Amino acid sequence: MTHDIAVVPGDGIGQEVTPAALEVLEALDIDFLFREAAAGDAVKAETGEALPQETYDLVASSDATLFGAAGETAADVILPLREAVDSFVNVRPARAYPGVDAVRPETDLVFLRENTEGVYSGHETRLSDDLSTLTRVVTDSASRRLAEFACEFVDDRGLDEFAVVHKANVMRETDGRFRDAVVDVADAGGVETQEVLMDAFATHVCLDPTQFDVVVCPNLAGDVLSDLAAGLVGGLGLLPSANVGPDRALFEPVHGTAPDIAGQGVANPAAAILSAAMLLEYLGHEDEGAAVQEAVEDVLEEGPRTGDLGGDASTDEVTAAVIDRL
Ligand code: ATP
Ligand code: MG
Repeated sequence: MTHDIAVVPGDGIGQEVTPAALEVLEALDIDFLFREAAAGDAVKAETGEALPQETYDLVASSDATLFGAAGETAADVILPLREAVDSFVNVRPARAYPGVDAVRPETDLVFLRENTEGVYSGHETRLSDDLSTLTRVVTDSASRRLAEFACEFVDDRGLDEFAVVHKANVMRETDGRFRDAVVDVADAGGVETQEVLMDAFATHVCLDPTQFDVVVCPNLAGDVLSDLAAGLVGGLGLLPSANVGPDRALFEPVHGTAPDIAGQGVANPAAAILSAAMLLEYLGHEDEGAAVQEAVEDVLEEGPRTGDLGGDASTDEVTAAVIDRL
């Protein structure tokens, strides 16, 4: 079976790290059909549109998408693209790697962040010169869909538990609904849940991240807490992510366009290649995904390394080293 993959490098170092990830995928014995499409600042300057309809359509019809980064136009690009895959969960592993400076080198956890509602639902109102309000949306259906994904996710990893982060003691109705729905689905699926209040989670994860494996969060909490965990593992530079929908998914490094180093061929391709490893796992190629992840780990530990990690290797040299280990 051939996998249809949309490739959207975007702007800045997206143009450098996305081809690197592609090279790694091409080195594997798997049938892919890659189709490249434009999005971001450059195509907007040319055509007036940051997200051409054909790019949206391609992403909405491919099995999976590899995305790089978009600059000024990021919100105009990535929000509609997440919608194109109907992404209801953002998967963000936060993992420290040997050879990379980390505040908490023992960190290895995955956030499953609700990706469609909460306080990011866009219902903000300016009621007067003095007063603005925000309506927080929490549905039983979205919470259950996330929990079902979480149950499968832990099961695939041979785990039988996940943490659910909330603040239902204060936001009784909204986080209460979220918590009840998630715990109910987990109970029905024979998965244990560890409830953690979101403020307490921030402390616990800093003091001892090994208490957590898989962490299920409402939208805003997931956004903030996964960035906090990124700090524990040495910054955003190495982190991959996935936006998963019912039928397709989009994979992207957590970092942006890095305009300070763009165009020099020195960007670290690790986050993009690790995103490609997540894509492999998503498509059912678990062994190849694990092999790519291990190859990146070996290179991070032994070099060559790019400038952000204290080395002087180019993007191409690091990519070639990863492919060599495969
Ligand atoms: P954007 O607005 O697109 O997010 P930014 O200026 O916030 O751009 P980021 O891409 O978020 O830049 O990166 C923040 C810092 O981390 C920059 O100094 C950048 O050079 C560095 N950085 C990010 N990703 C990488 C990478 N893959 N390799 C090397 N350095 C990186
Ligand atoms: Mg940024």
